[in-house]
Amino acid sequence: MGATGLSPLAQQNQNPTSGQSTSPTSSQSTSPTSSATPLPLSQYEPTSMLHVRETRVERARYAAIDIHTHISVSKKSEKGVAVAAERQFLGTPHELLAVMDRKNLQAMVNLTGGFYAGLVDAVNKYDNRSPGRFYTFTEPCYSRFKQPNYPNIQAEAMAQAQRDGAKGLKILKTLGLYLRENISSGTLVKIDDPRFDPMWDACGQLNLPVAIHVSDPIAFFTPTDRFNERYEELNNHPDWSFYGHDFPSNAELLAARNRVIARHPKTQFLVLHVGNFAEDLGNVAENLDRFPNMSVDIAARIGELGRQPRAARRFFDKYQDRILFGTDATPHGDEFPQQVFGDQLYEIYYRFLETDDEYFDYAPAKIPPQGRWKIYGIELPDTILKKVYYENAARLLHLSVSS
Ligand SMILES: [Zn+2]
Repeated sequence: MGATGLSPLAQQNQNPTSGQSTSPTSSQSTSPTSSATPLPLSQYEPTSMLHVRETRVERARYAAIDIHTHISVSKKSEKGVAVAAERQFLGTPHELLAVMDRKNLQAMVNLTGGFYAGLVDAVNKYDNRSPGRFYTFTEPCYSRFKQPNYPNIQAEAMAQAQRDGAKGLKILKTLGLYLRENISSGTLVKIDDPRFDPMWDACGQLNLPVAIHVSDPIAFFTPTDRFNERYEELNNHPDWSFYGHDFPSNAELLAARNRVIARHPKTQFLVLHVGNFAEDLGNVAENLDRFPNMSVDIAARIGELGRQPRAARRFFDKYQDRILFGTDATPHGDEFPQQVFGDQLYEIYYRFLETDDEYFDYAPAKIPPQGRWKIYGIELPDTILKKVYYENAARLLHLSVSS
């Protein structure tokens, strides 16, 4: 996509952080010709003139488990750290089940089930009311982080959470990017901080899988300038940028995560968002080869997978037993079109996985929210679809494998 005429963005980039990257070619390409009318990037909504097949996939070909959803969230956060046990519930079982039945979705896994009384509430509201349709994960209670025996408290909380119905542990990027020594102030706590070792071990002993999200798209660690492929997204959400300040680099975060996975070989780690490096499937493959206790989901990353359909297809062929279907779906969360729970979201994922359609939107939005490109389907064969939609998740969650 050409940048001709997008002058407000070009002007905006005369900032010191990107000064070194103004090459002769790029300055030539952004000089408007005399007749050009400047067009703000936000108003640019090109309509594709391409005539290609458009397949509507209303239902998953095989019953699916969405391993990555957020049906409940913490009622209170301080500087990115969830501090309340109390949950806010984003959808009723009734309204969720209606969509699930239409989309052939057997179950949703609510990763952000919280802890203590909040977890019990979430399990009662969903899992217990509709058995087999909802599963809930617990989360660490970081508000107790300052207590001297926190490592043991947190490890013991895993056993209690399992008794309360949790099917696994979810780690948000809080660990590594928000949690600090004094919870919301001080130096950042590292992902491989030894104070969490008893918790990782407890998960291994209890057979509770750990769904872990560290880092973010690599573009979030580079300056928000005209060279940033996710400029609009970062410009709309400046707090998503982890460039500068005291943030670790993407590589440092992934290395700390890898040390945790290596140190706890008996614990299963589901590394979310395609191992948090969907832009570099070679890196994800390397880690999958290194760590037998690692698997990945594809939540909120079909925009990445679908723009490299041939590499993605090879990746699915090779790691078909370790890739799980997930979307990051959030009921009524209309701020982020790529993860709004509903028919449209699932149809896009199914189209990507099941068809060889070309050049279609990865999110139901006028402007692609995670970068201005389109995606291509990878037409997985039935055997791989069954594994990715259901069997791999069923194994991780210790469900009986039948679909
Ligand atoms: Zn998520």
